Amino acid sequence: MPSSAKKTLLSPSKITAWLDCEHYLTLKNNPERRRNRKQSRGTSDSEKSETLQEEEIGILEAPTDFADMLRKKGDLHERKCLENYKEKFGSSVFEVPEQNREEGESFEAWVERVGNPMNGEYEIIFQMPFIYEGVRGIADFLEKTENNGKVVYEPVDSKLARAGAKQGHLLQLLFYTEAVEDLTGERPEKIHVELGSGERESFLVSDYWWYWQRLRKKLIKVVETDSSTDTKPEKCSHCGICEFYWEECRPEWRANDSLVFLSGVRKTHQVALKKVGIETLTGLAAIPESHLSEVSEYNFDEESEQVFQKAINIWAKKSGNNLDDIHSEWNANQKKLPEIEINQLLKLWRQARLQVVTAQTKEIPTHFFSEQEMLEKVTEREKSKRGESLLHLPEMNEHDIYLDFEGHPFWQIKEGIIFLFGYLEKKDGKWEYVQLWSHDKATEKEKATQLVEFLHDRYKTHSEMNIYHYNHTERALLSDLMNDGDPTSSIVSILGHNFEDSPPEKQKLDELVNAGTFVDLLAVVRNSLQAGTESYSLKEMELLAGFTRNRKDLAESGEVNGDGSIDKGAGAVFEFELYANADLYGIEKDEDRLKRIADYNKDDVEATRELHEWLIRKREENERLPDATSPIPEDQEEETKSEYMQRVEILKEKIISKIEEERSGI
Ligand code: SF4
Repeated sequence: MPSSAKKTLLSPSKITAWLDCEHYLTLKNNPERRRNRKQSRGTSDSEKSETLQEEEIGILEAPTDFADMLRKKGDLHERKCLENYKEKFGSSVFEVPEQNREEGESFEAWVERVGNPMNGEYEIIFQMPFIYEGVRGIADFLEKTENNGKVVYEPVDSKLARAGAKQGHLLQLLFYTEAVEDLTGERPEKIHVELGSGERESFLVSDYWWYWQRLRKKLIKVVETDSSTDTKPEKCSHCGICEFYWEECRPEWRANDSLVFLSGVRKTHQVALKKVGIETLTGLAAIPESHLSEVSEYNFDEESEQVFQKAINIWAKKSGNNLDDIHSEWNANQKKLPEIEINQLLKLWRQARLQVVTAQTKEIPTHFFSEQEMLEKVTEREKSKRGESLLHLPEMNEHDIYLDFEGHPFWQIKEGIIFLFGYLEKKDGKWEYVQLWSHDKATEKEKATQLVEFLHDRYKTHSEMNIYHYNHTERALLSDLMNDGDPTSSIVSILGHNFEDSPPEKQKLDELVNAGTFVDLLAVVRNSLQAGTESYSLKEMELLAGFTRNRKDLAESGEVNGDGSIDKGAGAVFEFELYANADLYGIEKDEDRLKRIADYNKDDVEATRELHEWLIRKREENERLPDATSPIPEDQEEETKSEYMQRVEILKEKIISKIEEERSGI
């Protein structure tokens, strides 16, 4: 196929996004398909770095938002790799002259001007542009090597991720491999990724060639048809960083009352629901209770039913719809139940009902699990975490600590940092906020040590104390972006990470962990209740406790939203980036940024304390639960599990016979 100048050229970053989501390419290539016809905010990470060759390392423009910060970190990493090559090879590093955009030079003209510098003269070629078979891209580096006495250039990409090159990385490199072969007649044997950790990962091209060729065929079709336009937005791993999330897909999902807003829903659940004709959150919520009670032993309560019916009446009035409208497909499918395990289906159905009530009445309803359900949830957990349910939640104690950390996983390309350890402790009858700051790895360790020693001493003198925290899902999401395991995703693992080579502190931390002093209130919430909220983040749960934040700006524009998307706002990570790396961006080191972060952290620990108080109050008010903290049952695990399995078997039989009845049309 000719690489026609008129045809839309795909870039590897677009292809990577397309692998996750076909709709991305539809929106990218067809502005008329967008709700917002103007370009959405920003461009994707790799796309921008493909089209920019910014300044030399030195002063960088300060990032404008979180996504921009990631791009800049990526560019810095690339330049660091370039510096390393220059140190090693000196003038044998060829930096391809930039595309002359000011004079309107097209990408195609640029490729033509650059020609083929892979003649063996250079050890390294930096930023080599290619167009091949409808795809265009700029290889970060081409590294000269020899294969059977012939000069071959192997593609190398610099990637911010700290471990495990992703599918998309390989795909880009395979494209460059093919383009190199087209120009030189020699196929590179290996491709390489320079990770943010400083490690290099290399792959044999032959191991992935079949994959690339299969993808190639699909791609040719996409390029030839300029991509199909009948795709729909489907939530996927790319959404969190996608430029179309806020202005295109999310509003579309909202307008369609999509199931993506249902807390706890998985892709497989959505597929199963769709199969029987249920595609909206309200549609799921409106499955009549009687339909589920036939296959479940769950005790449906009348009060919740009444509250839901009230909400659905408001919905019908406001929307002008009725249940027959939203259930038309489901009705046509003989009201079949989706193939989702019944307890899971009930949980999703109840969640949908709670969220519909919140949406229609603006009041957040809650549903507390029964004592037996809570027991079942915790018995399978490791012993130190088995107390994380409302049943076993300790009463408040004046020696308790409420703890939270703020960390920056991209502080430096090679490593992240926990820059603030904040906690609440009671002094002279008053709760006081304590902040321990660290600005480099040495002080991070020092503060972590100071904190663990303080906690350990307190435990030794007041063994009844507990350390409450709310395990942020944001941390895990940020960590996912870096593909670096979970050093910043759990409070205990963060502390442990600091003491890998410090046995005394590690021992003290282990003692606290094994004694069950750390109580994650997120786990307590998840094991005890469902609420009419779209996520179970602290910012949502604190509303139940009636907590009001002082620092609303940071809280509302936090960097990661409850649904996993990254906001452009000035969250704590972004604030710290502008403070810690002010010199890099040529901006003033503004101490107010630290104050804002501390205010935000203080809000978090205060919200955690109020949530604890609220949970205890709710337990006392709940007639189905014991008033006081129940001891953690040591020997109940096996018995409870087997009882549970028996129940599952009985329910399975009920469901199978119901499905058989439906199939045979009885
Ligand atoms: S937001 Fe998600 S669904 Fe929409 S185009 Fe981007 S990746 Fe696809």
